[in-house]
Amino acid sequence: MKCLLCTNDKEKMAKAHIFPIGFFNNIETKGRSETYRSSGERGRRLQKAIYDENIVCHDCEHGILEPLDDYAIKILRDKQGLFDQVLHPGAKDTKLLVFDNIDKTKLRRFFASVLWRISVSKQLELRSLSVGSFYEQKIRDELCNGGAVEYIDVFVFFLTSPMHNAFFVPCRKKIKPMDTKRDGQSVNGWVLQFPNICITLSLDKRRHPNRVFFNLSPELTESHTELLISTSIHPENESYKFMVVEAKNDKGIIEQIMATLKKSNGNLA
Ligand SMILES: [Zn+2]
Repeated sequence: MKCLLCTNDKEKMAKAHIFPIGFFNNIETKGRSETYRSSGERGRRLQKAIYDENIVCHDCEHGILEPLDDYAIKILRDKQGLFDQVLHPGAKDTKLLVFDNIDKTKLRRFFASVLWRISVSKQLELRSLSVGSFYEQKIRDELCNGGAVEYIDVFVFFLTSPMHNAFFVPCRKKIKPMDTKRDGQSVNGWVLQFPNICITLSLDKRRHPNRVFFNLSPELTESHTELLISTSIHPENESYKFMVVEAKNDKGIIEQIMATLKKSNGNLA
């Protein structure tokens, strides 16, 4: 059988998880998770998320995908590298989680690999989903050749409400500009949801329209200097510490952040 990642003919393929199983291990549902479509319609109950035995060989699964999954789980599930937590000024129940020493290229490669897996899998929930042949090919090539997938960026929420402790089928989304002076157009993106984690992902050569930057004063943080933080993992923002917004749910959060930035002359650029 042909491995869709390295394109070599292999006798046996790996049992590849489309969504890393580690994200589901903390769910108290006897290893099963509910699935929902973006319409709210309930799907099949899944034995530990979705896997596909027809997409990658053992070498690609263990050599390429698994290390990316392990890294993402360490950061996004276990919050390794959590450096500071700041209450969001002006938004109730919302925190900014600041991470240090994040390998942003590895995170982009992880998100790219999930999109690629969704796109090539023919499993029931995913067969209608595709990133298109251009990105499918480009991501495949970069995953195999150590590429930096610079056309991927994210806005990550940690959602603490129990209603978000489920699995939602990914969906495409046009991400609208939140500041039309900065970004003229919507960009192509996706919404990925792992239990209690929601990711708005841009897959576009244009920048993620929801990217925000904060310059936290020393009084707000435990460090003695100003802290430059950003939701973006784009290579241009390498010098910023990675920030995740933690809230009960994601309703109205972007608007609250915008309002705060406008009041404090915060930096959107
Ligand atoms: Zn392979």
